[in-house]
Amino acid sequence: MSQDNSRKLFEEARRIIPGGVNSPVRACRSVGAEPLFIARGQGARIWDADGREYLDYVGSWGPLILGHAHPAVLAALGETMASGTSFGAPTALECDMARLLVDCVPSMDMVRLVNSGTEATMSAIRLARGVTGRSRIVKFDGCYHGHADSLLVAAGSGVATLGIPGSPGVPEEIAGLTLSLPYNDLEAVRAAFEKYDGQIATVIVEPVAGNMGVVPPREDFLPGLAELTRTHGALLIFDEVITGFRLGLGGAQARYGLDPDLTCLGKIIGGGLPVGAFGGKKAIMSRLAPEGDVYQAGTLSGNPLAMAAGRAAIETLRADPGLYDRLEQTSAALAEGLIERARKQGLEVSGNRVGSMSTLFFNPGPVTDYASALRSDTTRYGRFYRAMRERGVYLAPSQFEATMVSTAHGLGEVDQTLAVADQIFKYL
Ligand SMILES: *Cc1c(COP(=O)(O)O)cnc(C)c1O
Repeated sequence: MSQDNSRKLFEEARRIIPGGVNSPVRACRSVGAEPLFIARGQGARIWDADGREYLDYVGSWGPLILGHAHPAVLAALGETMASGTSFGAPTALECDMARLLVDCVPSMDMVRLVNSGTEATMSAIRLARGVTGRSRIVKFDGCYHGHADSLLVAAGSGVATLGIPGSPGVPEEIAGLTLSLPYNDLEAVRAAFEKYDGQIATVIVEPVAGNMGVVPPREDFLPGLAELTRTHGALLIFDEVITGFRLGLGGAQARYGLDPDLTCLGKIIGGGLPVGAFGGKKAIMSRLAPEGDVYQAGTLSGNPLAMAAGRAAIETLRADPGLYDRLEQTSAALAEGLIERARKQGLEVSGNRVGSMSTLFFNPGPVTDYASALRSDTTRYGRFYRAMRERGVYLAPSQFEATMVSTAHGLGEVDQTLAVADQIFKYL
């Protein structure tokens, strides 16, 4: 079938946008494909520029937990837009949004809204350094926290996909302050705190990793991080940009019963518009300007359209008590069905799933950290990706990402997907 329009658009895009894309993984290089240009979406489905239909398991990389073009989100946008798009002055919508966030996320007393997940983590790190008066930070191999300088060290997501160790443009003096340790390895964190006694400002972690493929925390990992940071006077930052409102209204911290000092949010809380947020304990958040001395700002922060879309999305999630259970069932049926069918065809696969995020690894597993994720057969994943896409199933164009389901996906969509996968596993 024809992909002429996508191909033509990509040719044009490559002349005027580096690599033809505004975020690297979208270029589909690691799976040996060219990107599809998307024309529209509805519920669980998207249509490309050539009119071909796909079941979407990317969901704009996480935000679209309610599916595409959800009526509540569109209505909120329409209504808000009619009164103007930005004022650069406080609005009641920002209060609504902040209240929703502090009500839902257990550890948050106060929150500041920004425009992306990158801004949220970058600002949270600055705040942690400001509050502790320390410079070093600890992150984990394969976790991705956006593209700020300090955090582009052994990062996941596109950095993992493209096999880049760090990035030119990040000075050694800055990267040298970031320690990247193996995920799920508490001993390594303990050793770091001993070696750099009194120098570590913060440990930032994806409480469930989603950017090296899905990797759940070992049972003692997150409580151990909480204890070590407390003992050594460092702050614990949960980067819940993916997990926030995906693993439940309270994110991973509510699921595992933990109380981080700071939490970063993004993706779902914008309802598909560009938003991020970071928040936490009052004593820490009060150090932000203009109340305190740690500077952080944004011309479009708290933008009315983004607030309206995010509020509508969160209220829709909150209004339906059975919603997260249904998401979990859909996700489990998909993840388990894929593993079972692949194994039946003799393929060496394993899977990780938490809530509505999962990854099928072409790797016998178990996948518990970045090193074990990297043992995956990415060439085979590429073949799988291309064959699925050819048959109308749109997966993330990388082995090292999460498969996301939305409330618009049901068991019918899962069955359709498994039937397609069954055909492909036979000759993969
Ligand atoms: C997507 C993501 C980010 C970055 O968010 P952007 O909005 O892309 O800047 C940060 N942390 C995690 C865990 C993410 O998945």
